[in-house]
Amino acid sequence: MSTCTRCGSVQLVARRVHRYGSLAIFLGYLLLVPAVLVGVLGTMGVVAPRTGAPRVPVTRQELEAAGVPARIADGALAGQRVLDTELDALAAEQRRLVLEAQLRVGNGGARVALERFASGVGFPVVLASAAACGIVGWRLMSKRHLAQCSNCGAFGAAS
Ligand SMILES: [Zn+2]
Repeated sequence: MSTCTRCGSVQLVARRVHRYGSLAIFLGYLLLVPAVLVGVLGTMGVVAPRTGAPRVPVTRQELEAAGVPARIADGALAGQRVLDTELDALAAEQRRLVLEAQLRVGNGGARVALERFASGVGFPVVLASAAACGIVGWRLMSKRHLAQCSNCGAFGAAS
């Protein structure tokens, strides 16, 4: 059993105290909060859509089944602008499908860009630096066990 180095009392109480001062704890928060945010955002915004079911775009078959002329269907699926005069010649339902096909192509492009970013060097670097920040922040905020003398209040070595 350890005794107090100052008064020799054996009445030692285990305490958890911050390893560093309050400035370090503040810095720890500053580092830890963005790290957690990146982790949460990464899980929600980047990881979730990739693991989820892929969105089914308007297919050529759908356009053909609706009677959309092949030339317009190809143009819409390639993301090209369909002439208003061509759209006017279509029925309302056909027009809706053509516009939707164009829209999906646009969204698909954004999604591809995001996935390229996520699977490329961009996201791992962000994630790695966030993890590094998190570890440093966590260490700055960490506590250690010390034995405090209940008689005189002096801190002894960790038991
Ligand atoms: Zn003491």
